[in-house]
Amino acid sequence: MKILKFGGTSVGSPERMNQVASIISSDDEPKVVVLSAVSGTTNSLVQLGEYLKSGDKNSARTLVDELKAKYDAFVDELLQSDELKAKGKSIIDEHFTLLSSAINLSFNEGLSKELLAQGELISTKLFVELLNQKGLSGQWLNALDFMRINEDDEPDIPHIAQNFPIKDFTIPGGLYITQGFICKNEKGEVDNLKRGGSDYSASLIGAALEASEVQIWTDIDGMHNNDPRVVKKTVSISELSFNEAAELAYFGAKILHPASILPAQKYDVPVRLLNTMQPEARGTIITSKEQDTGIKAVAAKDGITAIKIKSTRMLLAYGFLRKIFEVFEKYKTPVDMITTSEVAVSLTIDDDTNLSKIKEELEPFGTIEIDTNQSIICLVGDFVSDRPGIVKQVFDSLTEIPVRMISYGGSRHNISVLINSQYKVNALQCLNRDVFQLEEV
Ligand code: ASP
Ligand code: MG
Repeated sequence: MKILKFGGTSVGSPERMNQVASIISSDDEPKVVVLSAVSGTTNSLVQLGEYLKSGDKNSARTLVDELKAKYDAFVDELLQSDELKAKGKSIIDEHFTLLSSAINLSFNEGLSKELLAQGELISTKLFVELLNQKGLSGQWLNALDFMRINEDDEPDIPHIAQNFPIKDFTIPGGLYITQGFICKNEKGEVDNLKRGGSDYSASLIGAALEASEVQIWTDIDGMHNNDPRVVKKTVSISELSFNEAAELAYFGAKILHPASILPAQKYDVPVRLLNTMQPEARGTIITSKEQDTGIKAVAAKDGITAIKIKSTRMLLAYGFLRKIFEVFEKYKTPVDMITTSEVAVSLTIDDDTNLSKIKEELEPFGTIEIDTNQSIICLVGDFVSDRPGIVKQVFDSLTEIPVRMISYGGSRHNISVLINSQYKVNALQCLNRDVFQLEEV
């Protein structure tokens, strides 16, 4: 049994939904299919919540009416017979009655989460009707019956395993359709796994059910070696380890939600990234297998701020770093890179909301220098420490670019280099040429 997850664009139009239906029915293996809301819907529902919070009932009404008109047209195109059209319309009516009635309720966070849940409930119900139309039968499963997060917002995998309604996956061609993103919290209220959380749902269900594989279907044929928006030529990476994928997911490779790697890794369920528009393409398979393969991919993260604390008090002292980190902890600001010398500490943050307060509190420790507009260039792969030449390969490629910080050895999977963002494009191009032999600069 496999888990297949399709994102918002993959179910974003009747035509795309049809493609999904043919992908999932191409063989007899039983499948749990996890769907996002139709693209744009969750954004609209977030907006609806904001209108309701601010008491702007007119805008809320207009938004609900416009969204309903969109879904009515969607159903018209998706479903052909009068009978199925009527069924589709009644699904839309049911959920929009709920959305409309929310306009007159007093707002609270719980209500807004309930509104957000409608997107996935609608897309999955319509999809089951589409399967009916194609003579396939799909069983609709309500994720609110088995997906749960605990009081720390952590998903409860044993609860999912226990409450998943299907125990027996031996029926050939069995299709079980459920929602990504939505869940209940420990109080039994409707909640969610945060924006983009459908990938996470798929991996949690895969872990709970010990699936043979979790497939994440998007618009690109797997994880690429470089950023296609910046360099002319990229190639899809055929194999990654969970550790490599975790590094890449954090550093802006947007196709997989970073949290989704953990459950799959813990329960050792392979994750395959595939392209809905090109189902035959190989994509990327992520497994626990580690191979000493050198650099596989480069990714960049912009909007980084570097902070340097220079102090002679650090000389031969201990406990200095703890005091510095307490400042970042106080302002709930994660620190990404860190390097130290005998008289200075340099570190980076990507959330500078509290930068001026942080600076003020660091001042008693020494001289503070701040550089904004930095980018982390991160090289990911498997570098066992006795493999010579990896760092040389990177520096040889970046000879023309001033490097502000470098971090190597934090894991065997990552070399991070901090540069001013103005050099990012050039850096990614140079690395594409020298490390991957993919293009001339
Ligand atoms: N529909 C949700 C969102 O747009 C979850 C997802 O698509 O992953 O964030
Ligand atoms: Mg997504």
